[in-house]
Amino acid sequence: MKRKYLLLLGIIFFIAFVIRVYYDVKHHEFMINTKTSELHKQALLHYEDMIVNLEDKYISISAQFMNMDKTYEFIKNRDKDGLYNYLIHDYEELIKSNPDLHVMHFLDTKSTTVLRMHKPSSYDDDLTTIRPIVAKTNKDKKTYFGFEAGKNGITYRITAPFISRDREHLGVLEFGIKPQYFANKLNNLLHVESEVLIKTSTMKNLSYKTEFENMGDFSVITKESIFKSIRSQIDLSKKEQIIQNKSKTYILFNDLCLKNYKDEIVGKVIIAKDITKAVIENRNSLLILNSTSFIILLTCYILIYFIFTHYSKRLINAYENIQELEIAVDTDALTGVHSRTSLETFLATQVNDKDEYALIFLDIDNFKKINDTYGHDVGDTILKELTSIISRTIRVDDLFARWGGEEFVIVLKTNSLKNAVKITQKIRESINSNLFHSSIRVTCSFGVTMIDIPDNLDLVIRRADKLLYDAKDAGRDCIKSGR
Ligand code: GH3
Ligand code: MG
Ligand code: MG
Repeated sequence: MKRKYLLLLGIIFFIAFVIRVYYDVKHHEFMINTKTSELHKQALLHYEDMIVNLEDKYISISAQFMNMDKTYEFIKNRDKDGLYNYLIHDYEELIKSNPDLHVMHFLDTKSTTVLRMHKPSSYDDDLTTIRPIVAKTNKDKKTYFGFEAGKNGITYRITAPFISRDREHLGVLEFGIKPQYFANKLNNLLHVESEVLIKTSTMKNLSYKTEFENMGDFSVITKESIFKSIRSQIDLSKKEQIIQNKSKTYILFNDLCLKNYKDEIVGKVIIAKDITKAVIENRNSLLILNSTSFIILLTCYILIYFIFTHYSKRLINAYENIQELEIAVDTDALTGVHSRTSLETFLATQVNDKDEYALIFLDIDNFKKINDTYGHDVGDTILKELTSIISRTIRVDDLFARWGGEEFVIVLKTNSLKNAVKITQKIRESINSNLFHSSIRVTCSFGVTMIDIPDNLDLVIRRADKLLYDAKDAGRDCIKSGR
């Protein structure tokens, strides 16, 4: 019983611990997911901001150049050397403020190069077919933005129509920013590492040949060492990815898209962040937390085990003592038959139906004389023999008790006084025919009555007692009955 409860408690503790571990593991995953989606949100926001700021900045720079009358003159006269010398200082200042600016390009209305500030030796080439953004700007006389691979590189372009103060359209002013610009900015802002991928198919016009590393349809333009080990695990179809590599954990996003002026995706910026430290810290704190809860649960269990074992022993002892006491109270010490207390309990609890029971009072005749003749010990032996004779005669439903001294009471389960007298007669005969202590004859006197008023047992007892005295008066060794 005790073992069963302790085992049950152990199982409950174990289940509680498993639930705790499960919850913590889930919480750990949740932590990584939250970290991932927060960083993702931030990256998208910064990226959009970055592009808008870049466009605003170079549109206003373009406007400044257009407001310079001399620039206008040089372009109109196709004086590329004059234009170069006139703007070189400003160009250098622009490069200083943004080292990733690598294109400042004047083109005429036919998309033919007037001057490349970044490569003045190359000019007068027609770019109508290979540089659609320039042709589009000339055609629509509107500003356009977007990634485009030219002859000299893959560049984010801001192309503004060059329109003089007199509203004369002279061509296009183009600024180009290296893709590294986006990667570097994101790296600094978010403490991540970024790579730029460009669709291989868009790079056919490049004048130089470089062996780019490929990822599906994309070529890797800017490289970060972090990607080296995980490149094969990157799945470009997933916007967010958690990658485990050796003992390191990385989170990755690849939905920062680079678009051309037509809003078509021509590239991607992939962001990776090494979250190994955070994962290890979180794992360690979980380990500490779970070990602590395991130790606490184990301590509680051991404590409960000892308290339970100790007190259950004491409880069992106390229970056994109570049982012994109850038996002692209910049993007559000398004869082993029911005590007077037990009789009273029986009468109070079992006897409630009228005329279901008969009450027999019996008293050993001249017992004092027996004691005086044979001694008190023999008297005791006779008392014991007598009770065993009577116990053998009555049935389980009956109750036999010592009333006190050499007086006894039998509660017989019967609904007829006649039957009760018959049984009493049998008892009397058994006693009379027995030789007590091997040689002594003993007789008893009996008073027999029905328990006809269970609610007033005193009256019934007094009546039985009176009948017993009647039997004594009638010369002893006889039965007196009545209602
Ligand atoms: P009567 O026929 O009128 O009942 O005479 P009696 O001698 O039996 O009645 P009395 O009341 O004068 O004496 C009862 C005796 O029973 C006295 C007492 O010593 C004896 N007795 C009572 N209890 C015990 C007992 O536990 N053991 C022994 N040996 N004797 C007991
Ligand atoms: Mg007596
Ligand atoms: Mg007597």
